[in-house]
Amino acid sequence: MPELPEVETVARGLNQRVAGDVIESVWLGSKPEPLKSSARAIAAALQSKKIARVRRSGKHIVFDLEPIGSDPSSVQWIVHLGMTGSMLVTTPDADREKHTHAVAQLASGRELRFVDPRRFGRLSVIEHFSPPGAEPLDVSFEAFAALFRGRKTPIKSALLNQKLLSGVGNIYADEALFRAGIRPRRRASSLTRDDLRRLYVALRRVLKQAIKLGGSSISDYVDSNGDEGFFQLKHRVYGREGKPCLVCKTPIKRVVLAGRSSHYCPECQR
Ligand SMILES: [Zn+2]
Repeated sequence: MPELPEVETVARGLNQRVAGDVIESVWLGSKPEPLKSSARAIAAALQSKKIARVRRSGKHIVFDLEPIGSDPSSVQWIVHLGMTGSMLVTTPDADREKHTHAVAQLASGRELRFVDPRRFGRLSVIEHFSPPGAEPLDVSFEAFAALFRGRKTPIKSALLNQKLLSGVGNIYADEALFRAGIRPRRRASSLTRDDLRRLYVALRRVLKQAIKLGGSSISDYVDSNGDEGFFQLKHRVYGREGKPCLVCKTPIKRVVLAGRSSHYCPECQR
């Protein structure tokens, strides 16, 4: 599932390519699942709107839309990529992929397409979107530390809790915990201030490095150009069960926590 760095990569690519363009018309497919707002509401909100900016908020892509002409209301188009969703900018003659659920025709003559084979992605329109959790790249250390105070859940589960932090998923939680030397099963409340400091630094470093490399391409993730990311080449524990730790050669372990795989080095992480 695309996490913060993948969504950031897609949002930045889209912003470069379609900011300033105008949505002239919208086509929506017949499958109901991807539409969190009604088809009518989405079409009405998008049509004849200028794309002022495309950005990421948590794991969501936010299109800030501005009215053209006399309509005074501004609105946001929110895209969640789910497991397999992608947003592609194409020419109208490019073959429309089978699992295309939405197409926005742009004044520049191009099309913006939402494609999602497994249909866990979501499209909606809203006036002011704000994700429930703190933004990992903006949160201060004090606010970050406060998120985990008194929490008896494993630190890995707390990192994945979108009400606490927005945008961190399985890959970057595992990679950050490895770099911080903390086992995924440790109770969040047992982390010392030093532990939390290392985790804070590791998480932000890993997210920023992944953004630089265009995210991790596992399963179907591609950016708005259809290109893959490269951070998967930097994974130290995620997906490396049984392989030697890159630091100490101990085989990497995998445990299941709250239904999700967690990967860690039993030697380097305590
Ligand atoms: Zn190790």
